[in-house]
Parts: sequence; structure tokens; C-alpha cells
Amino acid sequence: MKNIFDKCKFGDFELKSHIIRSGMWESQRDKVGFLTQDVFNRYEQIAKSGVGLINSELFCLDPRDRFAIYSTDMNYKGFFKDYQELTKLVHHYNVPILGQLAFFWYNDGLNQKIKPNDMSIKNIRHLQTDVIIAAKKLEFAGFDGIQINMGNNFYLSNFINPYFNQRTDYYGGNTFNRMRIVLEIIKVIKDNYKIHVNCKLNLNDGRKGGISFEESMEMCKLLEKYGADSIQLTSRTNTFSSDNGVHPFITYADKLSSELDIPVVLGGRLNDMDTINNILNTTNIEFFSMSKPFVAQPNFLEEWKANGHGKSICKGCNNCYSKKVSTCFVYGNGD
Ligand code: SF4
Repeated sequence: MKNIFDKCKFGDFELKSHIIRSGMWESQRDKVGFLTQDVFNRYEQIAKSGVGLINSELFCLDPRDRFAIYSTDMNYKGFFKDYQELTKLVHHYNVPILGQLAFFWYNDGLNQKIKPNDMSIKNIRHLQTDVIIAAKKLEFAGFDGIQINMGNNFYLSNFINPYFNQRTDYYGGNTFNRMRIVLEIIKVIKDNYKIHVNCKLNLNDGRKGGISFEESMEMCKLLEKYGADSIQLTSRTNTFSSDNGVHPFITYADKLSSELDIPVVLGGRLNDMDTINNILNTTNIEFFSMSKPFVAQPNFLEEWKANGHGKSICKGCNNCYSKKVSTCFVYGNGD
């Protein structure tokens, strides 16, 4: 029988478990933007809990981004000092950490909300360069890789989506062309830096004319072909329906895991050890991400490992997500 606390390989990483922590908002910063001690304490608790891999809270490219005040702007003056210290702390527990890049708007310097159809080739090169520089900065800050968030409702999820992208040039039209903006970024990063590239994307769009399950699977295969090291599945909304309490992504994630040679991470609605172990033993899915269970109790995996079973204390009230903080309102560490 496989167990979530079995050691395992994830690309080039040796993980202590099959559990991946998924980051959300970064809300604990002081008046000049530096991380507070609470952030370091939170990451240390997660890192020593038995987690396999950590994905950071959100990083954005621009202080004018829609969610910048709930994220970390990669250009604040304490970026390297704070994150070199934070990644060193996580590595002390032999846990790899990826920086999650998730920007809502693309800003060309004049136009803050430029839409995919209105991007000039110069704009596209500018955006690609910004992401590639962000990857270099993350590497210099000690991160083991970058998670490029092209899911949820972030900018790149719109650019690759036929619901928003009706371009008639090489960056629009068929699946490959809409993905070209990301595939080119990945190729440059993998050709020049020694970091892991994880791509986070929606398994479908849900809107008429948007990305279908079949197309997102094709997109994942393109990502693998062009150098992505792993895939994290997510969805555009958190209202994804399921039948009979079965995880709504399972069939898709099982099929994708069997068809790709790179790791695929199942996320969303996972909160008890028996269920996750059951999925691990009955499907091809090997990696599982959680976010809110770590918000409610950053070290909950210690109890799961010691007891051989466990269920997160998170009540699913969604306050942390909707109020855009990384602390819990139920268990006393909320703002
Ligand atoms: S605020 Fe609610 S959803 Fe968020 S971690 Fe706490 S209990 Fe869970």
C-alpha cells in the first residue's frame, strides 16, 4: 500500500511526502512592504511538518496589479533580503520551494488593463521578458523553481483561452498558437536557468466558447513537450460541482497522470488523509495539493503522520480566501 508520507521523486526533487502546499494571498507585510516575522514562522511550521513541496503565496509583476496589495510585488526593495532568508529557512528542512507568479493584469507602462486581443507583438515580448526576469529573480532569491499561474482568472489564463483570445496572428487561433506565449517563456527559462517550471492551469473554462477538458489536456501535453517540469490542476471558480462526493477532478487528473511523464498535481477540496491515500492507491494520481488546511493549521501534517490518519480542522468558511489573507478567521490567527 502506498502512503502519502512515502518518499518520492517530483522531477529532480526528492520529496518527503506526496503532499504539496499551495499558496494563496500574502497579507502579512509591514508598512514598507517587508515580510513580518509571522510569515517566516508560518513557512517554518509548514516546512517542518512533513510537506513534500511548498508553492509560495502569490507574486505579481506590478504594484498596480488588481491584487497587488494581497500579493508580493517582485520589485519591492526588500525582495531579495526577505526571500533569500525565507528560502534558506525552508531548505533547512530539506523541502523545495517554488515561487508562484500570478498577475491579473498586464501593464505595458501606459495601459494597465490591456486585453489579449489588443496586445502588440512588442507588448507580448515585454510580458514574456517580465516573466523570464521574474524567474531569474526567484532563482537568485533561492527558489528552486517558478510556478507560472496560467489558471484561475489570472492574465495568462485569459490569453490562452479562446473565450478571450480571438487574435488572427501567430498568438491566436488554434491551441498551439494561443499557448505560444507561454511555450516561448518556458523554453527560454529552461534553456538558460537551472530551475523547475511548474504550470498551473484550469482543467476547463466552463463558459461557452472557452477551454474544454479536451483542449486543456492538449495544452498540458504541449507544456510537457516544451519543457514544463510539472503540472498543477486548478479551476476557474471554486464552485466546481461533483457527483456523490467524489472529487470533481479525479477522472481528468487520473487520465492526465497516465498520459504525461511529468508529475501532475491534483488540487482542491482535499482535506483528509484516508481519502488522499485512497486516491493514491486506486488511480495514477501521485501528488496532492492543499491550501486552506495549511492556513487553518500550518503544521497539521505532523498529526496526520503521527496518527496514521487525520482530517483538516478547516471549516471551509472561505473567509481567508474572500478576505484575501493567509491567516485563519476561525482558529484565532486571522487579522
Ligand atoms: S478562514 Fe475558514 S476556510 Fe480559511 S482556513 Fe480558516 S476555517 Fe478554513
